[in-house]
Amino acid sequence: MQTHKQLFSKLKISTLLDLALLTPTSYTDNNLSSSLTLGQRNIFQAKVTSLNSYNAKLMVKFYLPKFNQTIQGIFFRVSPYHYQSFSVGKEMVIEGKLELYRDNYQIGQPKVVKNIGLIVPKYKSVLKQDDIKKLILTYLSMQSLLDTGLSLEEAEVLMALHFPKDMNQIYHNGSLLAKNIQVLKIVEAFNHLKKLSNKRIDYQAQKALCGNISEFVEGLPFLLTLEQKSTIKSIQSDLAQKERASKRMVVGDVGSGKTMVILASMMMAYPSKAILMAPTSLLALQLYEEACKYLPSFMNIALVMQNKEEGEYLSADFIIGTHSLLYKDNLPTAPLVMVDEQHRFGTTQRQLLESLARDAEGKHAHFIQFSATPIPRTQAMMNSALLDVSLITKTPFEKKISTKVIKKPDFPKLLEHIKVEIAKNHQVLIVYPLVEASDSIEYQSLSESREFWEKRFEKTFVTHGKDKNKEKVLIEFRERGDILLATTVVEVGISLPRLTLIVIVGAERLGLATLHQLRGRVGRLGLESWCYLFTHNESNKRLDAFTQTTNGFDIASLDLKFRDGGDILDGTVQSGTKFKWLDMGQDEEIVAKAQQRVESLPKS
Ligand code: ADP
Ligand code: MG
Repeated sequence: MQTHKQLFSKLKISTLLDLALLTPTSYTDNNLSSSLTLGQRNIFQAKVTSLNSYNAKLMVKFYLPKFNQTIQGIFFRVSPYHYQSFSVGKEMVIEGKLELYRDNYQIGQPKVVKNIGLIVPKYKSVLKQDDIKKLILTYLSMQSLLDTGLSLEEAEVLMALHFPKDMNQIYHNGSLLAKNIQVLKIVEAFNHLKKLSNKRIDYQAQKALCGNISEFVEGLPFLLTLEQKSTIKSIQSDLAQKERASKRMVVGDVGSGKTMVILASMMMAYPSKAILMAPTSLLALQLYEEACKYLPSFMNIALVMQNKEEGEYLSADFIIGTHSLLYKDNLPTAPLVMVDEQHRFGTTQRQLLESLARDAEGKHAHFIQFSATPIPRTQAMMNSALLDVSLITKTPFEKKISTKVIKKPDFPKLLEHIKVEIAKNHQVLIVYPLVEASDSIEYQSLSESREFWEKRFEKTFVTHGKDKNKEKVLIEFRERGDILLATTVVEVGISLPRLTLIVIVGAERLGLATLHQLRGRVGRLGLESWCYLFTHNESNKRLDAFTQTTNGFDIASLDLKFRDGGDILDGTVQSGTKFKWLDMGQDEEIVAKAQQRVESLPKS
């Protein structure tokens, strides 16, 4: 005998709703048939009227009082059991598939039914039927379901699925009723969010930060977008708390204006200190320049990088830097810690960063992360119990980027277009799938193509992910290059404002999220731009869909449609959770409803 606890651990489940969601995969209806239906399983009240054996077969005649009809049962493998069970005069309930044989009704191998009048559920699980039924019977009840926070209707649906009284409550024309599916979806979302919210641990903040930002906002040369404003508002209410240190992720497409949110947050922290970490020195430098440009001049801003420092970080109000920050042993503690492009940091760096976000007393800094990897709204909501998420889904100005799928015959035209852009003093990026030639890939590599471009264009620059001089090459290219040849590994983090044309070789090999990141490199400042997806594929629906939108959040949803699941926030968040009923591409309303419900639950 296994204990219930052992059974639960075999099922790998931990909550009552986990159990409730293990719904039966089929049912056997043991209610008596109301008619004689050929070709289907029938179930009859019957009385044996005769027994005959013939050629090792046993023929049993049954009289069905309800239909005033006699039918024949036939057994091919006969044992003493049959003679005993089907002796003349006995009454019983039998079941089996009803057929017509020489104008007579017949059932092959009829079975005697015991659970008459019941609908018997069948479960698919690692446990024996009896074991899982025992668990269901022990733990599931209207009351226990209502106690989890489900509504009356939801609890009723779950009870009906596990303890069915009428098949019409469950199926219609052989498929689960839409109403039941809706309930299973919301229960799935609710259960997931509830589990996450129990996992969330909140820490005391070092300080409440309530610095004034209105002067900063009014001094900007443009109006903030609605989403920038609402994100800033959420951060303001986060930082104003002392009981609970903020844990927020701001997700916004490349160019959606996250830097302004960073700067506004720094203003909120002032006169306390804030630290901002960026994944590369180029990005850190860029952020430093923007901070100096937009923040009031009375503020001390310092830059910390491996081979370069600006300002005195020991006394600065704002410290901006690369991961070099993590290795300074005299770095001041700050009540606000932010990370830009967090998806580009490794786990080790993240762990170090956590310690950076804690002071000597174990109180935490308000912690805000920024990510340029759009995720579908449903996914953001599903993670929100663990981490607050703000989405910036719209860019301040519409980018003018045309995306086209091109093939080999289009190459001469492409070459012409590249010349036109360069003549306008614009720049071109060509992305190859690999550095060296490989048999496994039917596209040219960076090394193979290099000569072609260098012959035709004097200012051709080359770099790739493993290139030690990558950043230097990029800076030089930004100043005076025409064409940059690179691989996808070069997720060019810096802004190349003159870049207006990108060619992605073998585009069908890349995920939509990656294509989107690459395309985001062109037209950064609103110049009309082009993204060419070079492929040998005859037709590709995914690439075609990609050419139709430039919104990263739409693309994340497309990604869900074409693959299964997209990129998720980070390691601290449950990633790649597969849902049985929920469709992350579609069920935004359901997830929102579940989220509200979880938020309204009393804190346990
Ligand atoms: P992200 O970091 O999200 O990729 P940035 O913060 O670098 O984007 O912003 C991209 C560009 O848009 C910058 O040049 C920035 O000055 C500009 N920008 C930001 N917010 C606005 C706005 N509300 N209106 C107009 N331009 C804006
Ligand atoms: Mg940015």
